[in-house]
Amino acid sequence: MKLNDNSLFRQQAYVNGNWIDADDGKTFEVTNPATNEVIGTVPDLGAAETKRAIEAANEAWPAWRAKTAAERSAILETWFNLIMENQADLAALMTLEQGKSIAESTGEVAYGASFIKWFAEECKRVYGDTIPSKNTDQRIVVTKEPIGVCAAITPWNFPNAMITRKAAPAFGAGCPMVVKPAEATPFSALALAELAERAGIPAGIFSVVTASQGKDVGEEMTTNPIVRKVTFTGSTAVGKILMKQCSSTLKKMSLELGGNAPFIVFEDADLDAAVEGLMVSKYRNSGQTCVCTNRTIVHESVYDEFAAKLAAKVGELKVGDGFEEGVNQGPLINMAAVEKVEDHISDAVEKGAKVLVGGKRHELGKTFFEPTLLANVTTDMKVTYEETFGPVAPLFSFKTEAEAIQMANDTEFGLAAYFFSRDIGRSWRVSEALEYGMVGVNSGLISTEVAPFGGVKESGLGREGSKFGLDEYLETKYICMAGV
Ligand code: ADP
Repeated sequence: MKLNDNSLFRQQAYVNGNWIDADDGKTFEVTNPATNEVIGTVPDLGAAETKRAIEAANEAWPAWRAKTAAERSAILETWFNLIMENQADLAALMTLEQGKSIAESTGEVAYGASFIKWFAEECKRVYGDTIPSKNTDQRIVVTKEPIGVCAAITPWNFPNAMITRKAAPAFGAGCPMVVKPAEATPFSALALAELAERAGIPAGIFSVVTASQGKDVGEEMTTNPIVRKVTFTGSTAVGKILMKQCSSTLKKMSLELGGNAPFIVFEDADLDAAVEGLMVSKYRNSGQTCVCTNRTIVHESVYDEFAAKLAAKVGELKVGDGFEEGVNQGPLINMAAVEKVEDHISDAVEKGAKVLVGGKRHELGKTFFEPTLLANVTTDMKVTYEETFGPVAPLFSFKTEAEAIQMANDTEFGLAAYFFSRDIGRSWRVSEALEYGMVGVNSGLISTEVAPFGGVKESGLGREGSKFGLDEYLETKYICMAGV
């Protein structure tokens, strides 16, 4: 471990302002997916420690909500500055535990920090309403209040940004938050906690509970009556479990779940731009993002030309350890991910798909996989309905705009969709017809802190980032002032 500031590498959990071990002393190992080497250990916490973190959050809450928005904003600004000052160390920790290239990790640290800056600004603008009353002796006022103690469960694919996108609006709104990071990537979360403490976020407002599996911590978070809000990013299957558990105390929820993003290339598209868009949307983070393109749907008249241009670009991708110069494809997170990718490819090939590029495990071994491009893909193959979450682009073909829209919407998911077209009428028509929370027109990279991120259908509930992201941590209160 060669960090500029070694105190960012924390091997204890952070609860109520203290660095702690598990009650029973248990720990678990965290490994580097590029080398299989153990990076370090963290405490394996359970329900008891989680309960204490929640109770501490509740005790810390009144003083935090009593601060002015400007005071909370100043602390968030300091946290933002500390993260950016330590960007290189945070990126190194991320590449070490997650595997993504150091360029992508560096980018994610800035992206994660951008939510803190955004909500430091936005939290000063939590406005209410006045409503004309029907009675002359009454005044009606609507205010916004912090919802209360929040709990977050986050995934490994964005170990930094998935935490800041939840914690920053919660803190800005005046809420405390207990976070359980993914078991594969706790060190990025603990480094954020260390910097939050230095920034002046008070004890109890931000706790990080590490655990080797989500079940016990998740049960406590979703059933403890103190917790008013649960926010989760991860699989649809786990999201459904959490929603069921939250029903016992009717908690408010935000869920950012799986996707099955279509990427439509119309016959009037700028094909070079579409290829660039697909490369970033499909192969970023080795295909392991919930907004990664899953199905590429190309008009039959440009199919061969698009496939040839794309194959050339996919062939240029460099697989390797994320710390190596020029590498843009790190390892997959674990063997289960490799097996899923292999299963999707072999299922497609058995049913008639043709491998244009890649198609197998990389010669580097471990969880490295060749960036893959499949042609002649049909809708009876697994790649159509399941999220591959790996570096595989299957190419489907279509004849009419209506058929493309029908194919794009033929999934229970509805997170991100993309299409390329230079026709302005079509751009509006298709944007409106796509049953998705986010649509990229002539762009394969649409995530930004200023716009609302979230899905429809089984891709989840609620929005993160933007002015809408703050509302998720606020309750609306109506005050009727009578006898005036
Ligand atoms: P992925 O397939 O991307 O790992 P998961 O939904 O399994 O997605 O994991 C996302 C997060 O949910 C992780 O922090 C994980 O520990 C947590 N998690 C997994 N299962 C449960 C569960 N039953 N209850 C609560 N959290 C869980």
